[in-house]
Amino acid sequence: MSMTYENILEKTAQNPTHANLMAILENEDPGFFQALTRYAYDIKIAEVGRHVYFRGIIEFSNICTKDCYYCGIRKSNPLVNRYELSEEEILREARWCYDNHYGSLVLQSGERRDPAFVDKIEYLLKEIKILSKGTLGITLSVGEQDQETYDRWFQAGAHRYLLRIETSNPDLYGTLHPSTHSWEERKRCLGMLRRSGYQVGSGFLIGAPGQTPHDMAGDILFLRETDVDMVGMGPYIPHEETPLGQAFSFDPIRQLTLGLKMIALVRIVLKDVNIAATTALQALSPAGRELGLRAGANIIMPNVTDLAYRRGYQLYNNKPGLDENAREQRVNLEQAVEALGEKVCYGDWGDSLHFKKRQM
Ligand code: SAM
Ligand code: SF4
Repeated sequence: MSMTYENILEKTAQNPTHANLMAILENEDPGFFQALTRYAYDIKIAEVGRHVYFRGIIEFSNICTKDCYYCGIRKSNPLVNRYELSEEEILREARWCYDNHYGSLVLQSGERRDPAFVDKIEYLLKEIKILSKGTLGITLSVGEQDQETYDRWFQAGAHRYLLRIETSNPDLYGTLHPSTHSWEERKRCLGMLRRSGYQVGSGFLIGAPGQTPHDMAGDILFLRETDVDMVGMGPYIPHEETPLGQAFSFDPIRQLTLGLKMIALVRIVLKDVNIAATTALQALSPAGRELGLRAGANIIMPNVTDLAYRRGYQLYNNKPGLDENAREQRVNLEQAVEALGEKVCYGDWGDSLHFKKRQM
């Protein structure tokens, strides 16, 4: 007797084997896609409820010492106008998040490890805690650092950290990065972050050049084995000024579908983690982030960076939100969330339930 879609999904939720996950990723039947996202949505409602959390993201600098072959702001792209927001500008944007009752914000930038950078972040963390009377939760997404730096920033007030492993396959990682970048070191950083006490987030570039369903099934199991609290992953979108962007034949519908399938599978397998509906989904479809919520995501990271700097943070072609200011975006997103029958939770950190359960 052949198994129904429901049977396949139930089996995967109970026992997510590599073979099961790969079969789902390879299944291109639109009926199956509908069943998959519906199933994941039901798990989301049961595990984390109809609550969406906004994290205002401040992309405070595009200066980067790394050279990832896919990223528009890699250090070897001479066409990028480099910028770095001043402390005052960053604190003004943080205050906007506080005044608008966003429970948390994310500080993101290119990767630097020099003392001036480490000190600046430490200072900002302390100041953001002061200006928000301790109420704003702070996530960092500033790449690979050493244990001491992660500890210092944790002590200064950051409590979540996003560091995508990009792919769980070290060989594939080697084709997406120069040989000076190390998959093993990135993985070690995830362990260091856990030791410092952070809620740890990781994720992937979905549909990266050369990535197979075998790799993606491994990616989901990697997140489970690493026991992450949060997942931030998005479809790969080429950038024409990068080595990989020039060669890639790009199918936006395929990338969007893969991105949504991965969200659904992560929700089915990891259940109670926070999952972001990322901007890359919105770059592929105006309703991309809402589709992400319907596939199992529960976090949105609205861009609160001053419009003057947005053009400088083009990780990929046609990154959206170049001219939508923070206030307009808040109103639009709130309406979209309510149209789904869900609620934006203001003034709440919205910590990962998975993390809280591990602490008990
Ligand atoms: N520099 C830090 C790091 O790499 O962890 C944080 C900022 S980096 C811009 C954040 C994420 O952007 C990366 O982890 C990567 O997955 C994503 N990204 C870069 N280029 C991309 C592209 N062409 N398409 C989709 N996502 C991309
Ligand atoms: Fe730098 Fe991050 Fe882009 Fe890599 S992905 S080049 S580390 S900003």
